[in-house]
Amino acid sequence: MFQLNENYLKLPGSYLFSTIAKKAAAYRAEYPDRPLISLGIGDVTQPLALVIIEALHEAVDEMAKAETFHGYAPDLGYEFLRRAIAENDYAARGCSIAADEIFVSDGAKGDSANIQEIFSSDSRIAVCDPVYPVYVDSNVMAGRTGEYDAATGTWSKVIYMPCTAENGFAPALPDVTPDLIYLCFPNNPTGSAITKDQLQEWVRYASSVGAVIIYDAAYEAYISEENVPHSIYECEGARECAIELRSFSKNAGFTGTRLGFTVVPKDLKCNGVMLHSLWARRHGTKYNGAPYIIQKAGCAVYTPEGKAQIAEQVARYMENAKMIREALKESGYTVYGGVNAPYIWMKTPDGLTSWEFFDRLLNEANVIGTPGSGFGPSGEGYFRLTAFGNRENTKEALERIRRM
Ligand code: PLP
Repeated sequence: MFQLNENYLKLPGSYLFSTIAKKAAAYRAEYPDRPLISLGIGDVTQPLALVIIEALHEAVDEMAKAETFHGYAPDLGYEFLRRAIAENDYAARGCSIAADEIFVSDGAKGDSANIQEIFSSDSRIAVCDPVYPVYVDSNVMAGRTGEYDAATGTWSKVIYMPCTAENGFAPALPDVTPDLIYLCFPNNPTGSAITKDQLQEWVRYASSVGAVIIYDAAYEAYISEENVPHSIYECEGARECAIELRSFSKNAGFTGTRLGFTVVPKDLKCNGVMLHSLWARRHGTKYNGAPYIIQKAGCAVYTPEGKAQIAEQVARYMENAKMIREALKESGYTVYGGVNAPYIWMKTPDGLTSWEFFDRLLNEANVIGTPGSGFGPSGEGYFRLTAFGNRENTKEALERIRRM
């Protein structure tokens, strides 16, 4: 008789967002005349930029004619997009990444979950705590994480690297040596970034212990400070020890359209075998690429008009971030993030737990945010607000918090 992959049964339910949705629904049912505003959205809200829409229309028209019709896309993605990425995201920043080291995909979520498949099942993983939950969950499914302790919210075999106000939200090198190190900067949920020198230290460490860094740079478009790297390949030696995940979601609004890519340099090897070959093999078999139409639209992001239009969108979100930071500070809260990322990470006041503050915000301000503890044990006592809402709602939410 068939058996299930029991690792899936170990996963705790999607506690965070389902609990938030349940609490919000119960509140709406009880107080239908009190409209709630969400500052908890992790999705973009501005429509796709005009240049992207035009590229989509053109690509659709091409599909209507035999001469310009496109069938299956190449496994690694179209050369026109991979070249645009190599030139604009890497060569322009002084990074040596070739077009054929770029694997176009349908987004960073899938890639960040799937990349672990090319590593041995007994690899030890290290993660920032708190962080985007996909890295741990995908390793749970693969059976790498040991047992779950509900009391502490931790897995026995995962190496947690706390990121708190005390260390400036930059993890210290772990005491136990990992095989795979997931780093996400700018970080979701803390909104923090690390400097090039700090990242260089991680590259040095990974090289010295023979670990691979899986670097999630999904929020690089939000970086505003000069000394914060946009890519791990700005660091010396990273080609030999790092994989980078990128997304078109948060910079160009492709959350619904789906486009991203992963960089696996050919210098990254294990006992002489290129990880590039394994990931290429995986792409060829379990295809998670993007359609021609979407890849054409992605190319539009790199045109001069595209760059200008998406920069405007990012700037609009970052104005929200600034507004949230300043308003919360004026109201006496301690806030972090929001300078190199669309996330504001605040300390909960009066020693409240993350969920207690969630309830206070819901009941007293009718505002929804995200409890920090949902992103990992070190997120307890913190709370995440996002800058992705529209201006008017964000302003209104802040006014309600001020009056609280
Ligand atoms: N990586 C991080 C850190 C994220 O926060 C998210 C989405 O919120 C993703 C990846 C997912 O990106 P994509 O939309 O390209 O799948």
